[in-house]
Amino acid sequence: KDHYQVLILGGGTAGITVAAQLRRKLRIYDVAIVEPSTKHYYQPLWTLVGAGVFPKEQSEREESAFIPSGADWIHEHVAEFHPAENYIVTRQGRKIGYDFLVVGLGIQIDWGKIPGLKEGLGRQQICSNYSYQQVDYTWECVRNFKGGTALFTMPNTAVKCGGAPQKIMYLAEDHFRRSGVRDKSQVIFASAQGNLFAVEKYRKTLEKVAERKAINLRFKHNLVEVKPDAKEAVFEHLDTHERITIPFEMIHVTPPMSAPDIIKSSPLANAAGWMDVDKYSLQHPKYPNVFPIGDCSGLPTSKTGAAIRKQAPVLVQNLISAIKGEPLAAKYDGYTSCPIVTGYGKLVLAEFDYEGKPQETFPFDQSKERLSMYLLKAYALPRLYWDGMLRGRA
Ligand code: FAD
Repeated sequence: KDHYQVLILGGGTAGITVAAQLRRKLRIYDVAIVEPSTKHYYQPLWTLVGAGVFPKEQSEREESAFIPSGADWIHEHVAEFHPAENYIVTRQGRKIGYDFLVVGLGIQIDWGKIPGLKEGLGRQQICSNYSYQQVDYTWECVRNFKGGTALFTMPNTAVKCGGAPQKIMYLAEDHFRRSGVRDKSQVIFASAQGNLFAVEKYRKTLEKVAERKAINLRFKHNLVEVKPDAKEAVFEHLDTHERITIPFEMIHVTPPMSAPDIIKSSPLANAAGWMDVDKYSLQHPKYPNVFPIGDCSGLPTSKTGAAIRKQAPVLVQNLISAIKGEPLAAKYDGYTSCPIVTGYGKLVLAEFDYEGKPQETFPFDQSKERLSMYLLKAYALPRLYWDGMLRGRA
């Protein structure tokens, strides 16, 4: 088959959620998903895997179990977009046409942009939660840390889950106390950003957490090189352009990220390389039969799975209207959520919209650290993901 009514690119959080809703709610559409991976990952769990709470295998399932029945799975990589002619080309050279296109290709991790990182990752206590292959090594580094400098970085780019670079730091710090090495260690958060969190309500709590934990905060520090053998990290100060070298006993790197290269070089990209998109309707401004979603989109909100949970029903409703030739009535308000783990058994559940206005689910102040919210993240949300969201039910 070489033409579908709805073609979905990417079978990650966004692609599967949209496919499941289309099939569950409508059953009628002719849908295919282009996804090369045989595995599906619940990436939010990696924070807890890196802190030794769960084995990484718990975040992995077979992709085949989540391709909704009735949808075709095209087991290939997308390589080219031809939106004016309504087709894409796969890496193997297969041409697939569509009436409507949903693009959920995720974010690209640019490991290669930091000299020394690719070579050093996974040894010399250089770790990162941002890869299934590497996430075990984070726990090895945290568990075996005997004191000295533990360095945690945050890059000068958009990242998926903006809170994740600090969550692992708070957990590691908590572990260092338990293992009796905290007195002999210095925990540094070296971030290219200018503060701990964009939304004031949650920032205030996190500033107190950092103070209580005596974390050394260094803002405007952009990681530019890792020297694995010397165990040094080199930062550029974004205001003064000064180079600052920090020796470490362990470093957790949040690598720079960007839109996938195939999007950057396509006619669908905005100036920054992301999928261009109307931030309310989720429709592409130039090609009205194209609907971007999730991390690869230029939606000006924090890139999370929780955001996709609210984007997907809007996209599906508007896609159906577009198919019927009706005006697009559904609107996405920028909702996103970041469950910020501040230690074992402690969590601040940040939820907010495009304006940075809190949009909290629970009838209590979510900027307070709570055990109940930690349990929600560790046990309830994974279930909601696998059994609800990916099945088109939540
Ligand atoms: P993905 O789920 O990454 O899916 C993209 C898919 O596209 C993949 O399956 C990939 O194989 C496929 N693909 C890539 N290239 C091609 C190609 N050329 N052709 C076809 N298919 C392709 N979110 C939260 O809500 N809460 C959290 O607490 C949280 N914590 C996180 C912690 C960590 C450490 C990480 C890494 C992420 C976290 N996230 C969290 C973010 C969340 O996982 C992502 O925002 C979400 O998975 C994005 O969904 P997506 O569908 O846009 O991309």
